[in-house]
Amino acid sequence: MLSRYNHYKIKNDEVIIYNSLSDKLDRITKTEFEILSENKLNPSISDDLFNRLYRQDMIVGENLDEASKTINRYNRATFSRQLHIVLLVTTDCNFSCSYCYQDYEKMYIDSAFIETFLKFIENNIHKYESVYIEWFGGEPLLMKRRVIELSASILDICKKNKVTYLGTITTNGFYLDDKTALALIRSGIRFFQVTLDGDELSHNTLRKSKNGKGSYKRITNNLINIKQNLPSNLFFRIGVRNNISKFNIDSSSFPFFNKYLKDDRRFSYFQYPIKDWGGTEIENLRTDLLTEEAYLIDVDEKSNFSRSYSRRLCYVSKNNGFAITPNLKVYKCHHFVGSYYIPKLNLMNLYGEITTNGILTNNEGAEVNWNYIDVGEECKKCDFLPNCVFDRCPLKKMEFTQVCKEQQLKIVQKKLLKV
Ligand code: SF4
Ligand code: SF4
Repeated sequence: MLSRYNHYKIKNDEVIIYNSLSDKLDRITKTEFEILSENKLNPSISDDLFNRLYRQDMIVGENLDEASKTINRYNRATFSRQLHIVLLVTTDCNFSCSYCYQDYEKMYIDSAFIETFLKFIENNIHKYESVYIEWFGGEPLLMKRRVIELSASILDICKKNKVTYLGTITTNGFYLDDKTALALIRSGIRFFQVTLDGDELSHNTLRKSKNGKGSYKRITNNLINIKQNLPSNLFFRIGVRNNISKFNIDSSSFPFFNKYLKDDRRFSYFQYPIKDWGGTEIENLRTDLLTEEAYLIDVDEKSNFSRSYSRRLCYVSKNNGFAITPNLKVYKCHHFVGSYYIPKLNLMNLYGEITTNGILTNNEGAEVNWNYIDVGEECKKCDFLPNCVFDRCPLKKMEFTQVCKEQQLKIVQKKLLKV
């Protein structure tokens, strides 16, 4: 039978299906849809079509408890044997964005950090089948030589132990020239997220370099050079993320992407609203922030689909998901590191630290059950359960309110709108 987590859109003679558990889109004919809706075995549905929809969770066995299936998948993803680290290589940045939430002490990884961190990886590698590191800052490419050195060493350890390694990096793109990109890719960092804040004028207003100069030209030139100069057989992906607020909602960087990068499948484009992540700088932009409903506003049909459920899940929910700072402190969520923000949250957010002999010690932060979700009866009956289980912030847990279904419906409708 058709899954209760399918959402449909009719377009000409086709029915577009979005399944919110698999996060996949597919299309079938109206006739096929009618036959499948009758819920009877019918020879006019080919095995190929049946299997394809089944693999994407769009068809499920009769009487299957889909809520339990969703919760099982959540448990598998949270207790997987993947080490997932968000590594803040520095808390410093070459920009002074008008909304930056990071206003804590400046720190940088150094050779002692690298030595200790590698001991930690060596000590624990036998526990994992994959290591996934998100290189993060501040601006991580302020430390680009150290990032390349450390990432290459992690790649070596993983290769020797037959463990998969994948690195991703979130950067403002200012130092991402083509040679740096090539060195990062060779060190195992293959996914890049480069942020722009609208067109040249908006971006240069919101995201000034520390010297007060605009950065748009340099970042966009870097992206064009990477496209032109990196070998086409080299695997990497660059997502251009356009940050939006009311200030720049009508002046996006999409025309740039469309003109220079869209024809290259190594590049994709998506938009994300600027949010209040704390700190004092956000007050400059408070009245320009978009509401939660602006969440996931995609303009490029290639983006945001076909994520696996473990990819959708915030790493904080995962048993082996941590954020690590240059002073070797280990946190759960990287948005709330340091001590300035929410003191109560910091107590549970500080998980422990890595000692100089590469051992992860726990403190009471480790006692908090970050994986726990409370799926009440209302949610078990709800057609949006996978969205709330996989896409929600684990700090918020499940928030059943009178408007929660309306919000999820809007998100699903936006996904279907793109097709
Ligand atoms: S929180 Fe609301 S939208 Fe989410 S599963 Fe529960 S009832 Fe549905
Ligand atoms: S989704 Fe929530 S817990 Fe996860 S990184 Fe973001 S703020 Fe932290």
